[in-house]
Formats: sequence, structure tokens, C-alpha cells
Amino acid sequence: MADYNSIKCSTKLLTHLFKRICISTTHFHNNTPCWEWTKSPHPTGYCQSKIGKHMYYVHRLMYCLFVEPISLPIQCDHLCRNRRCVNPIHLEAVTPRENILRSSGVAALRARQTHCKNGHPLPPITILPNGVNVRRCEPCRFAAYRKRYLNRTPEHQERVRTRNRLNSHKYRKTKS
Ligand SMILES: [Zn+2]
Ligand SMILES: [Zn+2]
Repeated sequence: MADYNSIKCSTKLLTHLFKRICISTTHFHNNTPCWEWTKSPHPTGYCQSKIGKHMYYVHRLMYCLFVEPISLPIQCDHLCRNRRCVNPIHLEAVTPRENILRSSGVAALRARQTHCKNGHPLPPITILPNGVNVRRCEPCRFAAYRKRYLNRTPEHQERVRTRNRLNSHKYRKTKS
């Protein structure tokens, strides 16, 4: 695996990098131009380059070389929102969670919501052990359960009755 922090900042490396960087005349952040990687980016939009035996994300490498060493799971966020940009002063080290909250994706928009679609105030996000963010509106969840309960079919009711009968039978048996 590519180790960003052990890579040496040599003239050879800097030549390799800066030969492929173009100062943008159209993209800026705080009045400083983006440094755009000229080679075609990875399908994710981030630029990669092969250095030695490994592929490196160039923006992350630039951050490690010129700002500070960072290790996973810390991510490198583009303040300029230009994924091709490798300008170290347009980058900031953030936790994956902060990165989600800042982006404009569906997850981010949902995370910034303060109320559900029915106007109930939402509780804070809970991150499950598998990394999935959940944010449930309890009144809506309860209403959905209740609706399901009221709309239950006769077959469903019969199944529930049978289950309850079996359970109560089991219960009596263990008691005696
Ligand atoms: Zn930039
Ligand atoms: Zn709700």
C-alpha cells in the first residue's frame, strides 16, 4: 500500500509533480488559483500518479509533503470543491464524517436537515458500527408502524394470533 508519509521530498519527485501541474486561470479559492493536475483523473474525479511502485492520490500526497503528515481515516478535503486541484493551501485534513457533512451529496444534505419531511425536529445522526449514518424521525417511524398495524390483512392477523397462542402456551408450560 502507498505510504504517503514515508515518501521523500526530492527534486526528482517535485519535478515529476510540477511537470504535470497547471495553474488554473478559471478556478480559484480565496483569490488563489487551483493547481490542476493535467493528466486525466481517476473515475472518482481525484487525480492519481504512479511514484515508485505505488499509485498515489496527488492531492493527498501534496498535503503530506507541504502541510503535515496525515494517516487514514483522516481525509483530505478540497476547500475549492475542485477534485483536480492539488494546491496544498486548498486542502484541509478532516475526519470522514466532517467530509460527508461538507460535501453536497445526498448524505450531506440529509445530515444538514433539521426537520423531517413532516416537520418533526430530527435527533442527531447515529453512526452504526458498519459506518452507515442513520437519522430516524421517531414520530414518523411510530406512525408507519401504526399504519401497518391498522392495514394488516386477515391472514396477517391470524398469523399473529397463532403466534401469540403458541407463545402463551410455551409460557404456561415453563411456569408450571
Ligand atoms: Zn483548488
Ligand atoms: Zn417526522
